[in-house]
Amino acid sequence: MSAHNENTCIFCKIISGAIPAKKIYEDADFVAFHDIKPMAKVHFLIVPKLHVESLKDCDETHQAMLGKALLLAPQLATEQGLIGFKTLINTGPEGGQEVMHLHLHVFGGGALSVAN
Ligand code: 5GP
Ligand code: ZN
Repeated sequence: MSAHNENTCIFCKIISGAIPAKKIYEDADFVAFHDIKPMAKVHFLIVPKLHVESLKDCDETHQAMLGKALLLAPQLATEQGLIGFKTLINTGPEGGQEVMHLHLHVFGGGALSVAN
């Protein structure tokens, strides 16, 4: 795992501002933005600024970051007008992960078509 991987990683490019995204939140450690192909009425991604490929690449040094990601989910979901929501972390290609930069999906507000 590398600290930053902007040359190849689409989410690192969004974090740096090199490519645009509909951001809904940003602080020193995280960005959150709407998914480009939403699978629900509201579908956003909570993304750590640290380039960690997947949940499998996390260890105890990432514990606070992971906890913060989970706590951001209800905060941002509420800000987006959701009363309830679903969360998803795909891990590895076999787990349905397409972008190899750890992220938490948040879905709500209507139909959800998650195949994996
Ligand atoms: P994964 O399958 O890796 O868990 O989810 C990756 C998600 O990132 C997909 O839902 C996909 O639509 C979204 N995504 C991929 N590229 C971009 C992008 O350039 N901008 C935004 N906003 N979302 C993206
Ligand atoms: Zn990255």
